[in-house]
Amino acid sequence: MFIGIDDTDSPNKYCTTYIATLLIEELKNSGYNIDMPKLIRMNPMVKYKTRGNGGVAIHILDELYSKDKEEIKNITIDLVEKYTDFECENTNPGIVFLDEAKYKENREKLTYYYKKVLYDIVSVDYAEKFILKVGGEFIKYKLGRGIIGALGAISSTPPYTYELLAYRKKEMWGKKREIDENSVIKMDKETFPYTFDNYDYENNKVLITPNTPCPVLFGIRGIDAEILLRAKDIIEGEKPERFMIFKTNHGTDVHLRKMNIKDIYPNTGVIVYGKVVEEPRDIEGGHVIFRLSDGTGKIDCVAYEPTKGFRDIIRKLIVGDYVAVYGTVREEPLGINIEKIKILKLEKKYIKDKKCPYCGGTLKAKGKKAGYKCKKCKKSIAYNEIRRIEVERDLKVGFYEVPGSARRHLSKPIQLIDLI
Ligand code: ATP
Repeated sequence: MFIGIDDTDSPNKYCTTYIATLLIEELKNSGYNIDMPKLIRMNPMVKYKTRGNGGVAIHILDELYSKDKEEIKNITIDLVEKYTDFECENTNPGIVFLDEAKYKENREKLTYYYKKVLYDIVSVDYAEKFILKVGGEFIKYKLGRGIIGALGAISSTPPYTYELLAYRKKEMWGKKREIDENSVIKMDKETFPYTFDNYDYENNKVLITPNTPCPVLFGIRGIDAEILLRAKDIIEGEKPERFMIFKTNHGTDVHLRKMNIKDIYPNTGVIVYGKVVEEPRDIEGGHVIFRLSDGTGKIDCVAYEPTKGFRDIIRKLIVGDYVAVYGTVREEPLGINIEKIKILKLEKKYIKDKKCPYCGGTLKAKGKKAGYKCKKCKKSIAYNEIRRIEVERDLKVGFYEVPGSARRHLSKPIQLIDLI
């Protein structure tokens, strides 16, 4: 039997993964065998997300009688009701139950649903119909929007990475987290490249601790569950009360797909191959924008202010560069919010040689018609005949990414490109 839960927390309180952790503890105490839980992120463009649009799913491995199922449902409902911030307007919990046989029977449909909630925005009604179609059950609280993500978490397929979530004692909730920064750096260095997004070296920022008053003390992400146990022990500071390892889709890029510009629509994730057709420029707010064309259309690509030093890479692009842009599509004005860029081919860059070919003096521009005139020997050179010197590009072919603190949960860091 599968249980999906989503949309229980608010910016002030709780965390859906905490419910999953308590639920697993209770179910194990009642004698059930439970698979590793899943924490699955869905379309990051969903507007009403609290943080990273994540839902959780639990898989009970035993064969169950109806009285077991009733017991499991009751334990789940009690925990969701106890640890939901019902007062927050934006918290609209949902629970989904799906039997093992129905899950197996409908695996293809569920895979379709998983892709749908990664790429698109769907309605509660759509999720409701889908749950009934695959023979599941749902419980909605308030608007019940959580059923969308609850089924999404159940439906997920590989690739997976892992996250170890460590939780605080109740009396610590809301208090400042005391985690030793140097121990995070040490852990990062010792476990690289198998753990990721631990520390942002560009902005000197610890990334494993959340910023909200939720029960999570820290979360360590990696491509191997074993290494997370070792990583956890390197962290110094406040001691966690309990921890749980989740299977996740963090750092996998599963929210992105290759698309032609003509087919792009808002609020989805894309990978677009094309040429730079308008040079990058700075716009209000500290963002940097350039225009990309792939022969089917043109689209703006934006490196936002929080991406900090990454904007300097974007500023160095010139017309003619061939790149692949990875990112999500914002609605108004339509454009790609860049998460990562792969430079495939650099256009040659030239500057005009302002040295007079006759006497070595300096050439001065006199307008397109008159061309250039030497200040020393006074000879003229036509506008198109001035020599051009190739200059070295201050960029290399390959991947460039935003710093860890600006990265989406789903974005694959470059360090994982050849690993998963
Ligand atoms: P939480 O930790 O509570 O899950 P969160 O940041 O993950 O916080 P939610 O509070 O869950 O965000 O809000 C996201 C809401 O969006 C959930 O109700 C979820 O069911 C819903 N949702 C998820 N994917 C989609 C989608 N593709 N289209 C529409 N709604 C979605």
